[in-house]
Amino acid sequence: MSWSNGLVKEILKPESLIISSEIAVVIADKFPKARHHYLVLPLADIPSIFHLNRSHLPLLEELHLLARNVVEVKGVHWQDFSVGFHAEPSMQRLHLHVISRDFVSPSLKTKKHWNSFNTELFVPYTQLYAQLEKENTIARLPKSLKDELLAKPLICNQCEFVAKNLPTLKEHLVGHLLDPNPIRNEPPVTTREPVPPHREPRSQPC
Ligand SMILES: [Zn+2]
Ligand SMILES: [Zn+2]
Repeated sequence: MSWSNGLVKEILKPESLIISSEIAVVIADKFPKARHHYLVLPLADIPSIFHLNRSHLPLLEELHLLARNVVEVKGVHWQDFSVGFHAEPSMQRLHLHVISRDFVSPSLKTKKHWNSFNTELFVPYTQLYAQLEKENTIARLPKSLKDELLAKPLICNQCEFVAKNLPTLKEHLVGHLLDPNPIRNEPPVTTREPVPPHREPRSQPC
């Protein structure tokens, strides 16, 4: 069985399931790219986002509901998550990614991993839903755009920092986890600009 079919195999194993409903299941991603990374998959054999049309909108809503459920079950905050689909999915079963935005994980190993979640290569659920509702289909990204997005610099998803390589980005991301205040991109300030003279407040009319 090829790796791309691994997901289908995975949802058949009861021990992989975190939540299941009559039409979809939630499993943990085997190679989590963040502290929390789950996949919501329909039981119906839908290979990818390119096989969806308007008739699948209720199914998408169910997937989204399960996404919310797993975040609740794990006792974490919904606002800390990105929820969406890969524009160019690599595995043969439609799956909704539910991933925490820390991206602190040993399995985050390549620039491709980063950019596939942090550029337009990742399509937020609401965007895909709206597109499907409007156009009744999901179009593939042109290859040139895909290549361009994969080659994008490593920009932090929580501040303006641009990392020169993945190890630097990973170290930076751990910093966000330890310090909730955003880390600045600028080098530490050693010389300060002169402070402008303090202005007296205008006298208030009595
Ligand atoms: Zn995926
Ligand atoms: Zn940052």
